[in-house]
Amino acid sequence: MSLGRFAPSPTGPLHLGNLRTALVAWLWARHERDGFVVRMEDLDHMVSKREHEVGQLSDMRALGLDWDGEVVRQSDRLDGYRSAITNLERTGLVYPCYCTRREILEAASAPNDARTRGLYPGTCRTLSPATRSAKERSGQPFALRLRADQLRIEFTDERVGTVSGVVDDVVIQRNDGVPAYNLAVVVDDAAQGVGLVVRGDDLVPSTPSQIALAQLLGLRVPRYAHLPLMLGPSGARLAKRDGAVTLGDRLALGDDLASVVGFLARSIGIGSGPTSPSELLVDFDPAQLHTDAFVMTDDQIRRPLP
Ligand code: GLU
Repeated sequence: MSLGRFAPSPTGPLHLGNLRTALVAWLWARHERDGFVVRMEDLDHMVSKREHEVGQLSDMRALGLDWDGEVVRQSDRLDGYRSAITNLERTGLVYPCYCTRREILEAASAPNDARTRGLYPGTCRTLSPATRSAKERSGQPFALRLRADQLRIEFTDERVGTVSGVVDDVVIQRNDGVPAYNLAVVVDDAAQGVGLVVRGDDLVPSTPSQIALAQLLGLRVPRYAHLPLMLGPSGARLAKRDGAVTLGDRLALGDDLASVVGFLARSIGIGSGPTSPSELLVDFDPAQLHTDAFVMTDDQIRRPLP
């Protein structure tokens, strides 16, 4: 059986856009009569908190979403990531990167370079042996990157259509020794048997790199369905300061759960009126899902839903 999944980072309450992605990921998996799992992407231990995990799961349950089996935490799966990193190292395609965030940004200001396209500028890809051993001796912390050689990958997204993108020299291990998101997500989706990845379309640019990592590791590449984002009235990503953007905020404003589910569904092109996930499932059709971002109005974000 192949599974669908929702994989939030427990760094704060889920906002309406995250909840909408969870709802659609659930609907799509259940529509295909597949299992549905939840994974907490909590590798960033500075910002991930157990209380946020508890709050996120309770909001999902309140909306009427369920999942199969225990919630998986990435912080419990470090061994799997480490052996994947070792396997990649064996391919000879991994190199140490000593760049700081600032150095990468500064390289970005050079015209026409890779970074202006969102890619790593390649500084440490071609270090001379002498420079590399000097850096090694200095004990400077280093990340591990994939040598992607500008490989281009094309895939067919179930909502976005054909996407073609260059694989970045992605970080597979951060310079604090923690496995990186792009590596962990690929290892986990395969290990959990995820066949359909439904998530926000802000992750489309990372997908070619994730596919490349899966292929190098000999893992099954899932189907992808990237959903449009929900934006605040200014057109920027939803933020706390915009108004009532979490389930808790909405309930405090006087909305009931059915109205919130109905609003989330309508904002992406499905359902009408107050509803529940199981009601929406009856005639869920992925082809109806909008592909354009939904911009909340001032009224929607500040006043109870009509
Ligand atoms: N954990 C990521 C986030 O919350 C999502 C990763 C994914 O769905 O692949 O943005």
